[in-house]
Amino acid sequence: MAKQKPKKMKKGAPLMSLHDLFIVKLCELYDVETMITKAIPKMVKSAENEDLQQLLEEHLEETEVQIERLDEVFEKLGEPVKSKKSASIKGMITDAEVMMKMKGEPTVKDAAIIAAAQAVEHYEIACYGTVVTWAELMEHDEVAELLEETLNEEKMADEKLTALAEDIINAEAMGEDDTEEEEGEGE
Ligand code: ZN
Ligand code: FE
Ligand code: FE
Repeated sequence: MAKQKPKKMKKGAPLMSLHDLFIVKLCELYDVETMITKAIPKMVKSAENEDLQQLLEEHLEETEVQIERLDEVFEKLGEPVKSKKSASIKGMITDAEVMMKMKGEPTVKDAAIIAAAQAVEHYEIACYGTVVTWAELMEHDEVAELLEETLNEEKMADEKLTALAEDIINAEAMGEDDTEEEEGEGE
């Protein structure tokens, strides 16, 4: 990526209108997506299941496009691209990293990775749901459409993670439960 780092949002900028708040939330989403692009590769490395690895890698590519989409959103709004640190995403990623560093059965750790990834997707769904609603309300129609594209990608990613958990990962994690002395038998 050859693009420059976004400026940090000024602290103490007053929230005088819904539009101000909308911009702040977009700045926060910029940080959320950026943090996710850094976290996913670690999750891929730590994941045992190949389907899980592939799903995460696909969502990494989507996330990179989502950042470009936010660039476009700022441009359409006539705002400089800025980023505002999100304590929420930082906390979620820290929790995920702690889990990934724990020793244990790889299949159980895959279940932990899915749980962590879904927490992040649910958070993104909440945030994008909010900004789509505000954009529509303030008649930033093109911006609303862009944000809705991302919202739909987050929902899809969440559904795929659910399917993988329900079809494979949870069962594997259960299966390993009482055979901890044995080696994992792979796929
Ligand atoms: Zn507005
Ligand atoms: Fe995202
Ligand atoms: Fe996502």
